[in-house]
Amino acid sequence: PSSKVADSVQDVWSIFTPLAAETKAINLGQGFMNFNPPQFVEMAAQEALTRNDCNQYSPPKGRPRLRQALAKSYGPLFNRDLDVETEIMVSAGANEGMFSVFAAFLDEGSEVILMEPFFDQYISNITMNGGKPVFVPLRAPAKAATSNISAHEWRLDVDELESKITPKTKIIVLNTPHNPIGKVFDEDELKAIGEVAKKHNLLILSDEVYDRLYFAPAEHKRIATLPGLWERTITVGSGGKSFGTTGWRIGWLIGPANLIKYALSAQTRVVFCVNSPCQEAIAVGLEHCIEQPYFEEQIQAYTKKRDILTSVFEELSLPYTVPDGSYFVLVNTSKVSFPADYPFPPVLDTRGKDFKTCYWLAKEIGVCAIPPSEFYSPENRSLGENFARFAFCKTDEVLEQAVENLRKLK
Ligand code: GLN
Repeated sequence: PSSKVADSVQDVWSIFTPLAAETKAINLGQGFMNFNPPQFVEMAAQEALTRNDCNQYSPPKGRPRLRQALAKSYGPLFNRDLDVETEIMVSAGANEGMFSVFAAFLDEGSEVILMEPFFDQYISNITMNGGKPVFVPLRAPAKAATSNISAHEWRLDVDELESKITPKTKIIVLNTPHNPIGKVFDEDELKAIGEVAKKHNLLILSDEVYDRLYFAPAEHKRIATLPGLWERTITVGSGGKSFGTTGWRIGWLIGPANLIKYALSAQTRVVFCVNSPCQEAIAVGLEHCIEQPYFEEQIQAYTKKRDILTSVFEELSLPYTVPDGSYFVLVNTSKVSFPADYPFPPVLDTRGKDFKTCYWLAKEIGVCAIPPSEFYSPENRSLGENFARFAFCKTDEVLEQAVENLRKLK
C-alpha cells in the first residue's frame, strides 16, 4: 500500500466500534446518536426519495434549496448576506469538506498547525494531500489531575502557536466547540489566533461542526465574524451533528468566494456531488429551525444528557472536564485500575494505557469510551493516556444505563 494509508489501517474507530458491538457494552465511543433525527427531517428525507429531481446528481456545490437554507440560517450568525452561488459549498460530510480544503491549498510539504488534542481525521486529511501537521498543545491546569475543571481552562499559548510558523505554514486549524475537550473558544482567544493568521498571511480552517451544541453560559463565537478574518477563513459545518444524521454525510463550507471556489474544484474531482435526497431533507430541517426553536430545545436536551452522564463521575470521584460544547466528556481515568495480567488483544500492544483502560471498561464494566491518545501526535501520546472520552449523544435511558454500569467501578 501507499505510505499515505499504510499507517492508518487500524484506527481507533475500527477497534472500538466493533468492540462495543461484540461486548454489548453501552457505546459511548464514536460520536453518533442512538436516536432518530427529528420527525420534520426524517419525513423530508422520505418525501425527497419519491421525487425524481432528488434522486439524481446535484450541482457539485450543493442543491440550491440547501444553499439557500444555509444562507438564511447562517447569514445572521456570520453578520452578512451569504452569496448562495459563491460562498457556500455543500460537502459529503464535514470531513470531506475539510479534505477538499486541504487538497485545494496544500502543496507537497505545506504545513498545517493543529492544536493537540485534535480530531484524528485531520492528520490523514492533511498527509494524504502532501501536507505536514505541526502541533501546538492545549494545556489543562495541573489541578485537572485531581479536580474537575471547566473546558475553558484548557488554554492555548498563542506565542507558542506563533513559534511553530515557518515559511511553509499555510493553514491553522481551529476546532470550536472542541472535540474531545468540549472547549468553546472565547472572543479574545479567537482574536489572538486571528492576529497570528493575519500577521503571517495564513488561512484558518475553522471546524465548527458542534456549533449548535454549546451550553450556557458559554456562547459559540465564529472567528470568521471578527474584523479582517472573513477573507481568510473557511468555516465547516455539519448536518449530521445539527440534526442527528451522522450517517447521511451532509456537511458544508462557508467562506469567501476566492477560497470556496478552489475547495469546490477539489470536491468535484473527489465525489463530484453530494447525496441528493439527504441534502433536500437537511434544507427542510434548516428552514424549520429558522421558524422554530429546535436548536434551543436540542441544547436543553443535551445539557440534561451531559448532567446525567457526569453525575456518575462525581459519584466515582473521577475528575473530568466540564464541556462547554460538543457532546463529549474527557474523564481522568488514572484511578481506574485493571488486572496487570488481563488478556488484552495484541492490537493494543503498541498503544497507550488508555487503550487498555477503555478495552477493559467495555469488556468488564459494560461501557465503551474512546482512548484519547489517538488524538495526540506520537511524541505527545502519553498526555492522553490517563483519559477516556465519553460521548453523551444518546437517549437519557441509555445514559442512565451507562451510569448504572459505571457504578461497578465503586
Ligand atoms: N466525530 C465523531 C467522533 O469524534 C466520529 C468520528 C469518526 O467516525 N471518524 O466520535
